[in-house]
Amino acid sequence: MASLEQLTFQNPYASLPPEFSVRVRPAPLAEARVVSVSPEALRLLDLDEAEAQRPEFRDVMNGARLLPGMEPVATVYAGHQFGVYVPRLGDGRALLLGEVRNAAGERWEVQLKGSGPTPFSRMGDGRAVLRSTIREYLCSEAMHALGIPTTRALCILGSPEAVYREEVETGALLVRMAPSHVRFGTFEYFAHTEQTGHVALLADHVIARHFPHLEGAPERHTRLFSEVVDRTARLIAQWQAVGFAHGVMNTDNMSILGLTLDYGPYGFLDDFEPGFICNHSDHTGRYAFDQQPRIALWNLACLAQALLSLVPEAALRAALETFAPTYSAQWQARMRQKLGLRETREEDRGLLETLLARMAESRTDYTRFFRALGHFDASPQADNASLRAMFAAPEGFDAWAALYRTRLAAEGSVDAERRERMARVNPKYVLRNYLAQTAIARAQQGDFSEVDRLRAVLSRPYEDQPGAEAYAEPPPHWGRCLEVSCSS
Ligand code: AMP
Ligand code: MG
Repeated sequence: MASLEQLTFQNPYASLPPEFSVRVRPAPLAEARVVSVSPEALRLLDLDEAEAQRPEFRDVMNGARLLPGMEPVATVYAGHQFGVYVPRLGDGRALLLGEVRNAAGERWEVQLKGSGPTPFSRMGDGRAVLRSTIREYLCSEAMHALGIPTTRALCILGSPEAVYREEVETGALLVRMAPSHVRFGTFEYFAHTEQTGHVALLADHVIARHFPHLEGAPERHTRLFSEVVDRTARLIAQWQAVGFAHGVMNTDNMSILGLTLDYGPYGFLDDFEPGFICNHSDHTGRYAFDQQPRIALWNLACLAQALLSLVPEAALRAALETFAPTYSAQWQARMRQKLGLRETREEDRGLLETLLARMAESRTDYTRFFRALGHFDASPQADNASLRAMFAAPEGFDAWAALYRTRLAAEGSVDAERRERMARVNPKYVLRNYLAQTAIARAQQGDFSEVDRLRAVLSRPYEDQPGAEAYAEPPPHWGRCLEVSCSS
């Protein structure tokens, strides 16, 4: 383990030409205090929890003290927001301090989110409120624990500083980490401003640091795009399999590394509702749960457009055409695992679609059903009463269960083994909105213990945790109709 002062920072992004970013001094939050820390994320920087207790840690994470090698910059990007191109967005409230190389040789960029205004703040105040900071913090770490690629969250700083949204709230700061925070929209910015040299420079920067096997390779830019298509298809398949809706899949929120990025009004499905819209501001359902694969492809097409100066159009089109088959194969593989199936058979697609249709009709709880399905008794006389009870029309479930039983028998499935396999892929604990809301409400009263408890439970989503059963419960009535907007 290292001490804070032993971390060596560098900021290679700040060394790109001046058009890429602007140096900005962070504006520390008044009377800031570290209110929650992710021990797993700390370890990525080779730090332990004792280190996070030091006032120096607070000062560095609050942007009040810079360590050697840190060069805080706000990066420029553009993006398609709800389908409309916005020519200049950029980090309006985030600052990239630089990156640390850890003992394992990984490089982690460290970014402050909520550290004050930048030249890209437009009308914004450069701040983040406690509510949205807790939501991003909990979900980043929960997604990681689920095995889904994501940016990470190191810690939250709270402050009594007033921040004005629909009402007065308090300011907070999230320390975010990722190997890179480059977005599709970063490429779009340079392409649309006709800085084609900078499109190439950005692509080569990304290749050198994150796709080193492509460095110097023929057609490296084409291959970079193909890999981004592949990573994005795999990411979305994981979202769909776990029941995660991002809520604002604008191209400025799409990571070039295929990470889940920018947690705003996201939501995990409670009841299975394919058209679930988690973002209260999304009136047309553009970013509804079942639209995510289509939107990801649309966003990739925007990225393709931005790469036209580097890659022949036919090659971009060919790469885009791989999205649907990759997504479909990945989704089916993950869903087959959720059903505990080891073999791949023709009839699996139908089996899945029938199940999802029955679940949608009954509004069956998505997470609870798949977790419970591990306990399916495949013997002919079993009635699987507790699963049956999760359907408004139990006969529909019975008909499906007969198909499932036959399918399991066809591959010689053994119930006990299947249960173990299924428990490793069907989480018991996901960050339901009502759980986040409960933790936020307590934190707003100054009690962060629920944030910590929830983070700890969600760090082991596939384990039965004695004493934590309440966190696997479906939402109470009030928790079903929570409205989450873009306001953050
Ligand atoms: P988001 O919806 O968080 O992905 O943000 C979209 C854009 O608005 C990004 O350019 C953000 O930097 C910017 N932004 C969001 N909130 C603020 C704020 N409070 N102050 C300044 N910029 C902001
Ligand atoms: Mg964003």
